[in-house]
Amino acid sequence: MATPTSTPAPSADPAARLAYTQSLDCVHCGLCTQYCPTFRVTGDESQNPRGRIYLMRAELEGRITKTPDFIEAMDACLVCRACEAVCPSGVRFGELMAHTRAETRAPGPIRRFLLRRVIPSRRLLGMLASFTLLWQQVFRPVFGRFLPKSLRTLDGMAPEIPEADARRPLEPFHPAVGERIGTVAVLEGCVMPVLFQDVNRALIRLLTRAGFDVRVPEGQSCCGALHEHDGDLETAGALAKVNARAFGGSEIECVVMNSAGCGAAMKGCGHLLPDDPAAATLARRTVDMSRFLVERGERLRFRDTRLKITYDAPCHLLHAQGEAKAPLELIKKVPGIDFVPMDLADLCCGAAGIYNVDHPEMSDAILDPKLDALAKTGASVLLTGNPGCMLQWKRGIERRGMKVRVLHPATFLADALVD
Ligand code: SF4
Ligand code: SF4
Repeated sequence: MATPTSTPAPSADPAARLAYTQSLDCVHCGLCTQYCPTFRVTGDESQNPRGRIYLMRAELEGRITKTPDFIEAMDACLVCRACEAVCPSGVRFGELMAHTRAETRAPGPIRRFLLRRVIPSRRLLGMLASFTLLWQQVFRPVFGRFLPKSLRTLDGMAPEIPEADARRPLEPFHPAVGERIGTVAVLEGCVMPVLFQDVNRALIRLLTRAGFDVRVPEGQSCCGALHEHDGDLETAGALAKVNARAFGGSEIECVVMNSAGCGAAMKGCGHLLPDDPAAATLARRTVDMSRFLVERGERLRFRDTRLKITYDAPCHLLHAQGEAKAPLELIKKVPGIDFVPMDLADLCCGAAGIYNVDHPEMSDAILDPKLDALAKTGASVLLTGNPGCMLQWKRGIERRGMKVRVLHPATFLADALVD
């Protein structure tokens, strides 16, 4: 649904032209603005989807240049895609922003090294984790107070690293328990095995108990979500290509995901590799654990669990993958729980990849009303299915001194399984 324009796209660059074309779908109705977390905090038109699209279009038409204000308006977006989910014109804002950032972001050498070399490398990420653990356990108690303020803030944001044993790699094959129904695969991920390998193991436990052989294909890689978020489409595309090959086995029915951000990236990898049939297969096969287990987990039995529980929807599950009901249906299969819905559960928590590191103040301001909403539920457990969201919530809850445990739904469900 394109609005008429008399001004042709000025750039011959394919990415810029794509962004320009997509911007024409926006009819400036403003329906999306109230769902935009950055607009809710600032009330500033350049901090909402309509304003951002307007700026992108003006820049492509040569009416404005990429000024620091322009770049800031783009940088401050969480790419939560809440706007995309409510847009009546079908504006694909996530893709639009990814292509815009490909032209506006100029990461420094350290950030580039971390994103391009460390994150996709299991070996380098493992070394970084071991070094951080050593710092946290041995050196921080002695030298932590001597760090300059900026590094102290960063150190305070770093999650606690689990011991090496908890980070050991997943075995490549896990047989179904009982009669086999089929074969699925899981993505081990980049940050997940370092910080949340227990969540990966919990998912495998659920899948094998549901009757599926689980493969963890060798040669798989990071999903590229962080790179795409940062506008590094070249690396994101290269990583998607690696995974399209690794998960291409004909015996694999689905790739079952437990990280909302990774799931959204793998489901959406077609726009990075439009002419690659293996990427199209990967996108089609990728499914969130909630959808898969609601539809195929009829064998799972859970014990009575007396806990007051609430749930926060990760943006990349709710808005990017459209999974609103399945996570709740799955959680409610556990008998005995007292489930209390949380206000603002459909708004971003402010984690958004590494947004909370880049924009700590905005990120806290976005989380604050959600912390109030959490307190109102009286829940002792908050469930959310994305590693970044789990860390963001843990930090906020600690900051407020609240007594709420943050768990991934996979962990909660696997702990409640009847063996
Ligand atoms: S809802 Fe869609 S069409 Fe309306 S202003 Fe937002 S992006 Fe544009
Ligand atoms: S992606 Fe999220 S933060 Fe960015 S413009 Fe859309 S609603 Fe706002």
